[in-house]
Amino acid sequence: MFSYRHAFHAGNHADVLKHTTLIALMKYLTQKDTALTVIDTHAGAGLYRLDGDYTETSGEALEGVLKLLVKPVEEPPKPGGKAKPAVDEPLAPALQDYVDVLKSLNPQFAQSGEATHLRIYPGSPFIEQRFLSGRDKLKLFELHPTDFKSLSGNIGQLEVGRQVAVAREDGFEALKTFLPPPARRAMVLCDPSYEIKSDYARVSACMADAIKRFATGCYVVWYPIIPRPEAHDLPRKLKTLAVKAGRSWLNASLTVKSSKLTTDMTGEVIRPGLPASGMFVINPPHTLKGDLQLALPQMVARLGQDRHASFGLEHGG
Ligand code: SAM
Repeated sequence: MFSYRHAFHAGNHADVLKHTTLIALMKYLTQKDTALTVIDTHAGAGLYRLDGDYTETSGEALEGVLKLLVKPVEEPPKPGGKAKPAVDEPLAPALQDYVDVLKSLNPQFAQSGEATHLRIYPGSPFIEQRFLSGRDKLKLFELHPTDFKSLSGNIGQLEVGRQVAVAREDGFEALKTFLPPPARRAMVLCDPSYEIKSDYARVSACMADAIKRFATGCYVVWYPIIPRPEAHDLPRKLKTLAVKAGRSWLNASLTVKSSKLTTDMTGEVIRPGLPASGMFVINPPHTLKGDLQLALPQMVARLGQDRHASFGLEHGG
């Protein structure tokens, strides 16, 4: 069975990029009158405690969402020098929407605005559910037994009945049975852990199949940017897929630090952890580019860890 547990990573910089983009998409797509089917192929546990054992072990939220909530200084302090005062720029609307979702789950944080009061972090299922209207449906797939149990329990507490379905199934396979959706409007989030090398090939095969079944769906893929050929190829393959199918696409990426290996004083190699990640969207709404154009520079300013911090935003079709 897989060892990846999203709880270790909840609220990290990849989640900030992923969930800000997801919120911008959900906000736009649920404005229409026709029913939307949302399919989350790799749902995770749904909710995470930032003060729980898993998240405390790795502290990834400290370099992600918790850092986002602190105003950045204009320039990092030079040795022996002082940091320049915090930049008082309001958050970009897409980031403000992200913070508002966090506030809705954290009453104490909503009241104080203090990052230390952020206790609960929502995974993609809770973000998606929040934006649904009565006619929309949400299908969630999670294969890990423990995360599936947590997800079922967390969703059960919402008392939303059959509007949200949770299944312990392979999300890549399950997606096929839901396309095309009844009202011919769908958004699919495909967010594997890429713990198994074959996940990269499965993502492109799954997206190719999905576009054949339902060309106008909005398909959203999160991917890690790491020095590994499969990871490097994935956005390129998705772009080719979209172009060949005559669909529009958008690729947004966030780098927070260098991907170079370093060594410590004893000569031991230090791996940098995840330095960057991206979101590839096929058939993005026309509003997404503008939303991210404002949000990404602020993510870099607040989450960047060294001079390699940067963002990418390209689109086509
Ligand atoms: N989408 C979640 C979020 O944003 O909160 C995080 C998902 S996490 C990156 C990936 C999840 O996929 C893990 O919980 C893992 O157990 C699950 N998983 C792995 N392979 C799967 C498969 N083939 N089908 C469904 N779930 C799978």
